[in-house]
Amino acid sequence: MTEQVKFEKRDTLKEKPDNSNLGFGQYFTDYMLSYDYDADKGWQDLKIVPYAPFEISPAAQGLHYGQAVFEGLKAYKYNDEVVLFRPDENFKRINNSLARLEMPEVDEDVLLEGLKQLVDVERDWIPEGEGQSLYIRPFVFATEGILGVRASHSYKLLIILSPSGAYYGGDTLKSTKIYVEDEYVRAVRGGVGFAKVAGNYAASLLAQTNANKLGYDQVLWLDGVEQKYVEEVGSMNIFFVENGKIVTPALNGSILPGITRKSIIELAQDLGYEVEERRVSIDELFEAYDKGELTEVFGTGTAAVISPVGTLRYEDREIVINNNEPGEITTKLYNEYTGIQNGSLEDRHGWRFVVPRY
Ligand SMILES: *Cc1c(COP(=O)(O)O)cnc(C)c1O
Repeated sequence: MTEQVKFEKRDTLKEKPDNSNLGFGQYFTDYMLSYDYDADKGWQDLKIVPYAPFEISPAAQGLHYGQAVFEGLKAYKYNDEVVLFRPDENFKRINNSLARLEMPEVDEDVLLEGLKQLVDVERDWIPEGEGQSLYIRPFVFATEGILGVRASHSYKLLIILSPSGAYYGGDTLKSTKIYVEDEYVRAVRGGVGFAKVAGNYAASLLAQTNANKLGYDQVLWLDGVEQKYVEEVGSMNIFFVENGKIVTPALNGSILPGITRKSIIELAQDLGYEVEERRVSIDELFEAYDKGELTEVFGTGTAAVISPVGTLRYEDREIVINNNEPGEITTKLYNEYTGIQNGSLEDRHGWRFVVPRY
């Protein structure tokens, strides 16, 4: 299965950006992976092509009715070795998202092979500084130009690559301020909360902007029915340390099943911590805080890996967790996770996928 993917070379390569000031998602590499679906032929024409704008019908269904899903993962470079972290999980999840939006599933192995070849072509774009990486964005959207409301008969899948800086601008584990959203909700059970679909983000932006205006970094969402139980943060899952136990909301259909979440649960168990996946009410957290039992809070996601939460605001109450410092368990898990990624700790679960030189 190491057939060479078709490769359309560009005449001149782009100038690479200054690696000391990359930010996130601002620069794109020379090439992207492209794959097209048509109801008659299925998925076809997998190829590496120049990164460039393309034409699309003004009636493309993805623009009107939101058939659009995406993924996010990273490639890291350590001592000339390029590594992807659990990419198989991302392709499994993209298929779950596609199925929910009545979009055609893809062959996960074909995509993984295409991605490895693309990343191999672009290895010189991967920044090697502390915390830097090549952010990988696979996405699929409906392209059929017809306004009837039904599943599109054609789709495009692209994978684009963006060299990105350290999430905290070089500082590891900087604490964030979180606003518990009590008006809007992100998702409801039976909806699309568990799928990584574009529309979930569209629905979240207003609350995010409002929280930013009040001086908070991100929103913590409550459940869509009672607005009582904790779900997740903007683009991260959420964990609490209560009485030395690690607690996180159970996946319930409206929470996005993060791959970092899943990995952190496994690592925490490896390290001997008890992990509870269950319903967690916002009242429980404030009560635990008052008793001195809520000692750490952190978010998990591909972008930051682990993001300690220093401040939580709910209605008119604001609490400061662990003096705004990353806690002991948070730090231990971060070191374990990043140690496995960079190869300094044993990869006992087989999570590192080394990109070969083709
Ligand atoms: C992508 C995402 C996450 C984090 O998932 P990872 O696989 O850990 O990166 C969490 N919540 C939402 C809403 C997301 O879109």
